[in-house]
Amino acid sequence: MADASPESSSVPSNSETLDLAIAGGGAAGFFAAITCAEALLASGVQPENFSVRLFENSSHVLGKVKISGGGRCNVTHACTDPRTLVTHYPRGERSLIGPFHRFQAEDTVRWFEDHGVALKTEADGRMFPVTDDSQTIIDCLTTAARKAGVSWETGTGLSSARSLSPAASSSPGSEPRFEIVTTDGRRYLVRHLLIATGGTRSGAARKLVEDLGHALEPPVPSLFTFHIADDPRLHDLQGISVEGAAVRVPGAKLSATGPVLITHWGLSGPAILRLSAWGARELADRDYHFPLELSWLGPDATPEAVLDRFQKERHDHGARSVATRSPFTSLPKRLWVRLVEQSGITDTHNWSNLPKNLASSLANELCRGAYTVSGKSLNKEEFVTCGGVRLKDVNLKTCESKLQPGLYFAGEVLDIDGITGGFNFQAAWTTGHLAGTALAEGIGCGYAE
Ligand SMILES: Cc1cc2nc3c(=O)[nH]c(=O)nc-3n(C[C@H](O)[C@H](O)[C@H](O)COP(=O)(O)OP(=O)(O)OC[C@H]3O[C@@H](n4cnc5c(N)ncnc54)[C@H](O)[C@@H]3O)c2cc1C
Repeated sequence: MADASPESSSVPSNSETLDLAIAGGGAAGFFAAITCAEALLASGVQPENFSVRLFENSSHVLGKVKISGGGRCNVTHACTDPRTLVTHYPRGERSLIGPFHRFQAEDTVRWFEDHGVALKTEADGRMFPVTDDSQTIIDCLTTAARKAGVSWETGTGLSSARSLSPAASSSPGSEPRFEIVTTDGRRYLVRHLLIATGGTRSGAARKLVEDLGHALEPPVPSLFTFHIADDPRLHDLQGISVEGAAVRVPGAKLSATGPVLITHWGLSGPAILRLSAWGARELADRDYHFPLELSWLGPDATPEAVLDRFQKERHDHGARSVATRSPFTSLPKRLWVRLVEQSGITDTHNWSNLPKNLASSLANELCRGAYTVSGKSLNKEEFVTCGGVRLKDVNLKTCESKLQPGLYFAGEVLDIDGITGGFNFQAAWTTGHLAGTALAEGIGCGYAE
């Protein structure tokens, strides 16, 4: 493509001009680049006539895709109703109804199928490539990008970006609207700029966004596990997991149900990660020190109902020791024995001679166990950032900035994040698709002039 030679004095005249520069070679940046380039080709623009270039800070593109889903890449989730899909996003939620009506999990599956990758669904709804190998997704995206004429550089990030004069920035299509500087000091004029730099917890990523006039919801981690120090109820039980447990933070509207896993340092598992996602901001405000109520028997269990169950045990198995005869098959034996011990029940207690106060103590321990969380660890399987570019400043039909024409955002840089299960990649595909489609229209319109 020909370099533009803008007249405006604020526009440097000796830099290469790009139709589209993308900061960040992750899932969102790649998906946007491919969508845009494929749409331009489909509308008849010749590959030599447009320039779509990705700049990736690190030495590899799609680094998180590689490590995602334990190396298998949980691409999306089998949920085809946009209104249900949005309920998995603590940040984004209702604002995502429109975007998911345009591009949702079903579209992701179709897109990958059309590009030669079959996905499979696991019992819990998570979707993976049939190869169980994240490299399949990387190969698919890089091949599609190359085929569509997208170019990329690794080891080269964007160190700064500025909007050019208001006259340039309001012109449609053909005039460059931004000047970008790469980490190795090269300058480019760009007509359209997409920021897809992922979570905004690093200062450099924040600066890039703020220099372009956008405010950020303060970034804090989401999807973390809980530290519970020196609690004899959990000591040495790491690896034990209970399927239908429930957790809540007393005094806050935060609760979650699902598997809870005991770790070396406290608690993890889907219910804990869900709670951490919904409470990401509130728990950060408390500096990750808060009380936790844990029901090993699920959200509906009450001490009264548990005591009734104990009565039946007294009647049916009165001579059996409490420690060796658990009425709850869902509880691993070692955990049952530990909770029995910690309730003050000894080997001499059988069901028929269990004192009322000890029975109550055990019933409480089973369904209202009080724990103290004193910190967090990042979940190694998946973590994301809560916070990012404010959604009210972005048109979510196109992912274009409402403050800077020609500037777009996609992926985790936006104030959107989901719980585990493929929802975070789905948000990257959706916003990447919307941005890429709108960018193709913007770039194509420049060529039509
Ligand atoms: C260990 C782990 C496992 C995960 N597994 C899953 C999973 O299985 N399923 C799921 O749905 N989600 C998963 N996630 C979350 C998912 O990876 C992210 O939500 C998703 O990658 C976001 O895509 P993105 O393109 O917005 O950002 P990223 O994938 O983070 O990509 C952004 C890219 O921008 C680059 N960059 C940053 N600043 C600059 C700059 N100034 N210039 C140029 N480049 C820059 C970064 O190096 C990075 O490569 C996982 C996350 C982690 C950490």
